[in-house]
Amino acid sequence: MQRQDVVFSGMRPTGRLHLGNYWGALKSWVALQDRFSCFFSIVDWHMLTTGYSDTSKLRDNVSEMTLDWLAAGLDPAKCVIFRQSDVPEHAELALMLGMVTPLSSVENNPTWKEQLQELSKTKAGLAAEGGQTRYEENKQGANYELRTYGFLGYPVLQAADILLYHGNKVPVGQDQLPHLELSREIARKFNKAFGEIFAEPQPLLTPTPRVPGLDGRKMSKSYGNSIEIYESPASLETKVKGMYTDPGRKKATDPGRPEPCAENPPGCTAYAMHKLYADESFVKARGEACRAGEIGCMACKKELLCEMSGPFDEFRRRRDAYAAEGGVERILAEGALKARAVAGKTMDEVRKAMRLR
Ligand code: SF4
Repeated sequence: MQRQDVVFSGMRPTGRLHLGNYWGALKSWVALQDRFSCFFSIVDWHMLTTGYSDTSKLRDNVSEMTLDWLAAGLDPAKCVIFRQSDVPEHAELALMLGMVTPLSSVENNPTWKEQLQELSKTKAGLAAEGGQTRYEENKQGANYELRTYGFLGYPVLQAADILLYHGNKVPVGQDQLPHLELSREIARKFNKAFGEIFAEPQPLLTPTPRVPGLDGRKMSKSYGNSIEIYESPASLETKVKGMYTDPGRKKATDPGRPEPCAENPPGCTAYAMHKLYADESFVKARGEACRAGEIGCMACKKELLCEMSGPFDEFRRRRDAYAAEGGVERILAEGALKARAVAGKTMDEVRKAMRLR
């Protein structure tokens, strides 16, 4: 049977999203919902694989993130938006796929290896500072213990997420290709053992523009340098005014270095934001004016604030409207129903192929 192209992607519920999340993923998702049958999942079980020791904010984070998705333009009439744990078939398929997944494949997962390396570094550092007791305390408090079956097996759950909807297109950046390769390998192993059930998911390479944080480093919640999608006008203005620029510029007439270079390695954050929010000719002109010392940073940032205000107003309007009508739980419940209708059919095929029924 010829199946239509299906896109699957998910995000761990980390609460409110920032511009790095928007430009790195959400913006592409909004475009994809008009072209494909799309399933977008808040993957709360994945959150547990590394954050099981503190789930106090999990529910709130799911709501906040769903609102941000809606604010960014995901439309429940065009795509399926749902919470992973509302669809238990994800767990059942992960269990079945686990039967055919070689241990070496998950043990060689680069993320797993990196986290274990981080863990041993932390362990060594803490032991040097205060010994084993200190490590045990931190292990409890900060959840350093990732040597778990759940975390080792998360790529299998990831494969189940995609294959459950016969997802054959997965939006990824270049750096995520190895993760998808593991899902493809698991699909092949299953098909070899039980017959051609799954198409191997293909990468849908999406643009991932550079989104620096307020201080010039990569935008990240943990660095405290982010601009949230739902930033108030006053807070957005404060953040734009405080953006890292070119420390070599003392006066408006000093020649600036807007792009990353040896003298200004991170490059100017405001300039990188112009690239995201203004058209090419404007960015070119602004870069030339900066290099020639013909514009001051405050004036340049004022222009940036004007460029960003329109899209941010739009986000706020949509988010407030969904929040006011208390729509999040309803949207997630409706999404779960649609997702389960597809997931249930897939599991029937899987059980049949495995001669479980
Ligand atoms: S003039 Fe604009 S682009 Fe140049 S350093 Fe200042 S803020 Fe950045």
